[in-house]
Amino acid sequence: MPAYKAPLRDLQFVMHEMLNAEAHYQAIGAEDASRDMVDAIMGEAAKFCEEVLSPLNQVGDQEGCTWNDGEVTTPTGFKEAYKQWVDNGWPSLAQPTEFGGQGLPDSIGNVVSEMVSTANWAWGMYPGLSHGAMNTIELHGTDEQKEVYLSKLVSGEWTGTMCLTEPHCGSDLGTLKSKAEENADGSYAISGTKIFISSGEHDMAENIVHIVLARLPGAPEGTKGISLFIVPKVLPDGTRNDVKCGSIEHKMGIHGNATCVMNFDGAKGFLIGPPNQGLKCMFTFMNFARLGTAMQGVASAELSFQGALTYARDRLAMRSLTGPKAPEKAADPIIVHPDVRRMLLTQKAFAEGGRMMMMHASQMVDQVKYSKDEAQKKEADDLLGFLTPIAKAFLTEVGTEAANHGVQVYGGHGYIQEWGMEQIVRDNRIAQLYEGTTGIQALDLLGRKVLMTQGESLKNFTKIVHKFCKANAENEAIKPMVTQLATLNKEWGDLTMQIGMKAMQNREEVGGAAVDYLMYSGYAVLAYYWALMAEKAQATLDAGTDEVDFYQSKVTTAKFYFDRILPRTAGHKGCMLAGVDSTMAMDEAHFAF
Ligand SMILES: Cc1cc2nc3c(=O)[nH]c(=O)nc-3n(C[C@H](O)[C@H](O)[C@H](O)COP(=O)(O)OP(=O)(O)OC[C@H]3O[C@@H](n4cnc5c(N)ncnc54)[C@H](O)[C@@H]3O)c2cc1C
Repeated sequence: MPAYKAPLRDLQFVMHEMLNAEAHYQAIGAEDASRDMVDAIMGEAAKFCEEVLSPLNQVGDQEGCTWNDGEVTTPTGFKEAYKQWVDNGWPSLAQPTEFGGQGLPDSIGNVVSEMVSTANWAWGMYPGLSHGAMNTIELHGTDEQKEVYLSKLVSGEWTGTMCLTEPHCGSDLGTLKSKAEENADGSYAISGTKIFISSGEHDMAENIVHIVLARLPGAPEGTKGISLFIVPKVLPDGTRNDVKCGSIEHKMGIHGNATCVMNFDGAKGFLIGPPNQGLKCMFTFMNFARLGTAMQGVASAELSFQGALTYARDRLAMRSLTGPKAPEKAADPIIVHPDVRRMLLTQKAFAEGGRMMMMHASQMVDQVKYSKDEAQKKEADDLLGFLTPIAKAFLTEVGTEAANHGVQVYGGHGYIQEWGMEQIVRDNRIAQLYEGTTGIQALDLLGRKVLMTQGESLKNFTKIVHKFCKANAENEAIKPMVTQLATLNKEWGDLTMQIGMKAMQNREEVGGAAVDYLMYSGYAVLAYYWALMAEKAQATLDAGTDEVDFYQSKVTTAKFYFDRILPRTAGHKGCMLAGVDSTMAMDEAHFAF
């Protein structure tokens, strides 16, 4: 497994030079979050991730979790790392001060989260899910629930989970069966089985707070009859609740994180939010978790890039096509070969472009939460709604592509366990599935977010791109990128109209086009962020800097992205416009083998 090195210079570039973090924090009223403070937090988090979490990544994969009679033991070192995490106050970083938090904005928490995710994704899921549980209770819980649960979650003494999936349903939660019956004391008895519950049971914290979806008696069928409950493993009075981990899954990756079957046998639960509005409330958790999962794609691209780059500089094989580059050695390092460079640059483009996209989205999360300007709040919320399915599905798809390039750069050594490159592929593969599969995110984007708003949500974004293109139309240094981006931006709207028209004739056109539309959108969004970064880097070079290598590498990676990755949009365009006829023409009986 490559030893993780936090990309601090690039994080500073994104936070300060691209996103002007200090001004953003002033604008949302978080005046304490100065540049020095942000840098100090990043520096401390980097140390923890490099020195404590990264060395446990391969240990977690090889040992996995063990189940014994309802108890789960996490891999060697996980529990001790969690204690350090809590002792150092990391869980409370971006939590409200009333409950013991440090009150910093979410975007600072997300910078830390990127580092944790890259150093050790499986470990990071334990505190990661707690964060979602905290947000849900903060937004929908009663004062008493906040008092009892939030302070313990904020301190990290307790952790949280999200319990949605049941054996017969994951994407289609409308059919879930878990029941909640009211007790005489106003609490509820929760019964049912939830499967695939991440961090559902473990030995790292004294209590686990499950956020559970279940149905009240006589509730309407479908998604309109689902309610949300807090079900703690240990009740506030100290008694053990009737929720037990029945088993843990043996799975492809993220072995260090316990994926649990959770049996609720009349467990005591407490309603959060109004009855039958549970799915709506759970969306707080799910939207948070979707952005968190998008980060897994960035983490996968970053870690596999770090491993592949080190190896490509070291490994010798054959000579460069233009003559030896290391004549004193038996062969040239493989980084001289165009195909190896193609893979490295693809990983770098996804890691750094994805980071930029995620950090920008994090600032929108801050604005939605803290801005006093209602118009800005709404704008950020709309934009975030549009970007969330793209970030979740696109970044995890290309994260897996990047991880596969990592294996490929190592040749046969990538396929064996020793180097850890195959672990990154296995660990990231789940990111395309949980928190809504790529197919479900694509339907959300094209159906709900774009077509149901008559294209308004897309226009919110393309307007921003248009403004940038107009402002840089005469910027010679990045003109080819701007021209390509402006053409694509227009085409994106035209394509949406064409699919919308087809969908009026046949609704299946939406389902047939959705994933191509999402990937097209992902490449377009990333093109915008790369053009922005190229513009800033080129301007810095023109003004004179002693960090020429850093800024030049940004401009070069942006050019590579536009030359070699962005043309993939043409393939997606062709596929989505081809329509759904040939996909649906096959009689089901003809799917034979
Ligand atoms: C390791 C792991 C950890 C997990 N952690 C959690 C957790 O913490 N909490 C939790 O609640 N769940 C968790 N899950 C569950 C996860 O969220 C679900 O597995 C996921 O949402 C998919 O649901 P499913 O497995 O039931 O697949 P299905 O819903 O059966 O989907 C199967 C396939 O059909 C496609 N499909 C379904 N409906 C449509 C449609 N209308 N149009 C097009 N395609 C469609 C899907 O895209 C997919 O390709 C976890 C799963 C795993 C494996």
